Amino acid sequence: MTDATATPEDSGTPFYGPDFGSLQQTDPDIAQVLVDELDRLRGGLQLIASENFTSPAVLAALGSTLSNKYAEGYPGKRYYGGCEVVDRAEEIGIARAKELFGAEHANLQPHSGAQANFAVYAALLKPGDKVLAMSLPHGGHLTHGSKVNFSGKWFEPVPYTVRKDTELIDYDEVRDLAREHRPQMIIAGATAYPRLIDFAKFREIADEVGAWLVVDAAHFIGLVAGGAIPSPVPYADVVSFTTHKVLRGPRGGMIVCKQELAQRIDKAVFPFAQGGPLMHAVAAKAVALKEAASPAYQQYSRQVIANSQALAEALSAEGMRPTSGGTDNHLALLDLAATGVTGAEAEARCDAAGISLNKNAIPYDPRPPMVASGIRVGTAAVTTQGLTEPDMKEVASLIARAVRDADGSASAEIRAGVRALVEKHPAYPHA
Ligand SMILES: *Cc1c(COP(=O)(O)O)cnc(C)c1O
Repeated sequence: MTDATATPEDSGTPFYGPDFGSLQQTDPDIAQVLVDELDRLRGGLQLIASENFTSPAVLAALGSTLSNKYAEGYPGKRYYGGCEVVDRAEEIGIARAKELFGAEHANLQPHSGAQANFAVYAALLKPGDKVLAMSLPHGGHLTHGSKVNFSGKWFEPVPYTVRKDTELIDYDEVRDLAREHRPQMIIAGATAYPRLIDFAKFREIADEVGAWLVVDAAHFIGLVAGGAIPSPVPYADVVSFTTHKVLRGPRGGMIVCKQELAQRIDKAVFPFAQGGPLMHAVAAKAVALKEAASPAYQQYSRQVIANSQALAEALSAEGMRPTSGGTDNHLALLDLAATGVTGAEAEARCDAAGISLNKNAIPYDPRPPMVASGIRVGTAAVTTQGLTEPDMKEVASLIARAVRDADGSASAEIRAGVRALVEKHPAYPHA
């Protein structure tokens, strides 16, 4: 384990922060948290589908003095003086987002994906309006109408599902529900859907009933940025997303939309939903957008999918059924029924072996969400560290052994296998 009291020269770790030495002096407790977390990241397999490893360049922008600046408003129209420098970061970021996604307008200020969605609801709806969105147990997000979230408390959710036989979105049901309920907004996008979404079909349905079409692209926008899957931007009125999943930017949110909605979206983000923007995060988003426009990132995004497909196939051979029959994106959702192990047990056993993944409900899951019958795995992070298809076979074998390791007797051995694999391709290798 690395020692937080070591000198910065010893650890040689720029991504701990611009002045890790001063953090060590001021606050050894928190310095040790940074060191231990990096050890944890590097020592295990990170298969949580919503996580990734940001670049040192993104981390440098995040750990910068831009965090100090109050910049309520938008570039050129701020409520504070001294914004002319940070304005440049936001202007550059907006221009990059518009270019990368072919969008007419971009807002980089949402603090998170949930905040971005809050602003979208605020921009397009009034309380009590109906929202047709993917059912949560079938892969929808909390902000798509959960009773414990603003979206389910202040709006009227109408959930659509996946078909029981194919586990694919049932577009006929979406159309029927839209005709019956006449929602003001339709959301396409999910947290645990391994397949491509037919945005053209959603557009058609939205047009038929006069609803806004919002695509919540939080999970897959990185694959869109890399040109590996089709873009929702030409079809949707608004596309909201997170910047920290496959896209590999800082933790945060972003919204792109048609020009005619630009003012409504901007006003909904600020001043309706948020106060001052996090300018260090806005700058880091700009950095991530530049990285995402590179040929290396395009290659990365294709490799993420190749790895995810190889992993799903290898897990299938280990007796874990990929729902919907496979994956078109960065994640797979595995039904563990044939193993006799619950999602919760599988998650805990993998955790003990140094494999981070999450239990997940499968469509029509008979078990409650806290137990669940499945696991979700994603390849964004392991692909960043350089693993490829042959490694995915080894990953699947390690997962399968961990899942079946009921008494923990094999966990040390599996952990050693995990360590050997990640040491070949360490995350943050320059540390
Ligand atoms: C991750 C996610 C969000 C929320 O993002 P946070 O940054 O965690 O608030 C919203 N929608 C979908 C579909 C997501 O997957």
